[in-house]
Amino acid sequence: MSYPDVVVIGGGVVGAATARAFSRYQVDVVLLEKEPDLPWGTTRANSGIVHSGHYDRPGTAKARLCVRGNRLLRRLAAELNVPYRQNGSLTVAFTPEEAAKLSEWYARGRANGVPRLRLISGRTAARLEPNLAKEVLRALHAPTAGVVSPYELALALVENAVTNGVELRLESPVEGLRPAGKRLEVATPGESYFARLVVNAAGLGAEGVARMVGDETVALRPRRGEEYLLDKVYGSLVTRTIFPTAAGYSKGILVIPTAEGNLMLGPTDVPDSGFEDLFTTAEGYAAIAAATRRLVPSLPGPEAVIASFAGLRATSATGDFVIGPSPTCPQLIHAAGIDSPGLTAAPAIAEEILFHAQAAGLKLQKKREWRRGRPAPVRFRELDDKARAALAAADPAYRHVVCRCELVTEAEIVEAVRQGARTLDGVKLRTRAGMGRCQGGFCTTKVMAILARELDLPYTALTKRGLGSEIVVEDLARRGGEGR
Ligand SMILES: Cc1cc2nc3c(=O)[nH]c(=O)nc-3n(C[C@H](O)[C@H](O)[C@H](O)COP(=O)(O)OP(=O)(O)OC[C@H]3O[C@@H](n4cnc5c(N)ncnc54)[C@H](O)[C@@H]3O)c2cc1C
Repeated sequence: MSYPDVVVIGGGVVGAATARAFSRYQVDVVLLEKEPDLPWGTTRANSGIVHSGHYDRPGTAKARLCVRGNRLLRRLAAELNVPYRQNGSLTVAFTPEEAAKLSEWYARGRANGVPRLRLISGRTAARLEPNLAKEVLRALHAPTAGVVSPYELALALVENAVTNGVELRLESPVEGLRPAGKRLEVATPGESYFARLVVNAAGLGAEGVARMVGDETVALRPRRGEEYLLDKVYGSLVTRTIFPTAAGYSKGILVIPTAEGNLMLGPTDVPDSGFEDLFTTAEGYAAIAAATRRLVPSLPGPEAVIASFAGLRATSATGDFVIGPSPTCPQLIHAAGIDSPGLTAAPAIAEEILFHAQAAGLKLQKKREWRRGRPAPVRFRELDDKARAALAAADPAYRHVVCRCELVTEAEIVEAVRQGARTLDGVKLRTRAGMGRCQGGFCTTKVMAILARELDLPYTALTKRGLGSEIVVEDLARRGGEGR
């Protein structure tokens, strides 16, 4: 049993940003995550775009928090040494009707406070992006748009929050909430927490958390989105993120340069999806290939795809973010219905949660000592030869390249394990081992050997991403070679 001031439910980017924001103040905070590692929800599977903020209607929480989040995220990425690039975006129009829509979005962007937006001709757009379709008539250029590594951002936020005193509890699914005097009891299988305030940042689980206090105002309608990652050799076909002039709920199917130098194509938008629908489809790829070739005709075919995945948008019934105290339980503050642009908005959502926490009576006094930054992790692939040689001389584990595609050394994997990686995916999200052209074909067994050694576990206990994803089912060597 423990008595923290605040419990944050969910270790996605919203929960991570919220926990880190609270860590600035003299309050005890516990971050509860149901999975064995972070971030395994929607934060792991999205486009990684830091949107400029011209898409959402003025007056909505999305519009307000996207523009503010864009500004905050840029600073945060620098403070926490997270891969981020302000590459800008182009939304392109092919017809006079689409061009008229762009003018509407330009006005929207101005009303939302997006800086430096400009409408440009097709010819100017072609000068900026020579591989853009020649038929583009007009474009909306948003120089403040960027791209970030979403999982590294969430991991860095949590690491920094923990450095500043936040307690992280993994494998802690919240199963019940019960008012207990002035506090709220948060029940997990291992422990109960009696908190002054609880933040519901449970992503697709936020509806279930709200129901625990009889609150039916959070109604989620998941929307599945497929994404296709291309080999890095195509990474320079475009510099800016290219959007179509989309007409539906989502921002359309895009060509996205990632923060790490790949191109990504997607996402689709499938309404009324199931809460577990994390699959990709042949139709999804066909739709994405056709839509993105219309934007950039020289894009390669399926042979260039090195990975595909799907993410689920936790869309609310109103289509806007649901942020604020629960009507049935004022000690529970929702950060729910956080679909796109939730990654961009996360630092601004965290600010808003702190505002609601204060309004609910929580005193927030700044700590005397607080570490704003996170030291840059060693990324061997980004270093010059001299720096690599110096590391290799100091530690032989830097001489052993484990992932050839992304140039990840044994020393970086050992450090990832020290930072909490317990699975292949945990190592992958922290180091990029297994994210390159061969998708782990070469390095999986080598990473497993390091995990087994560092964690002192048999191979049969190693998983890709927690129970049920074991890789080795039986140790044949221990059976005396039977079946070899
Ligand atoms: C295809 C796609 C593309 C997108 N592209 C962009 C983009 O380019 N830019 C952008 O700004 N946004 C984008 N988004 C939206 C963005 O990814 C999300 O808004 C954001 O990741 C939501 O973060 P979260 O922390 O709310 O949720 P999540 O990342 O899902 O985290 C919620 C966490 O809560 C945990 N949890 C759930 N229930 C419980 C429980 N009972 N107890 C304990 N833990 C629990 C989950 O395990 C999970 O780790 C995209 C979304 C999708 C699907």
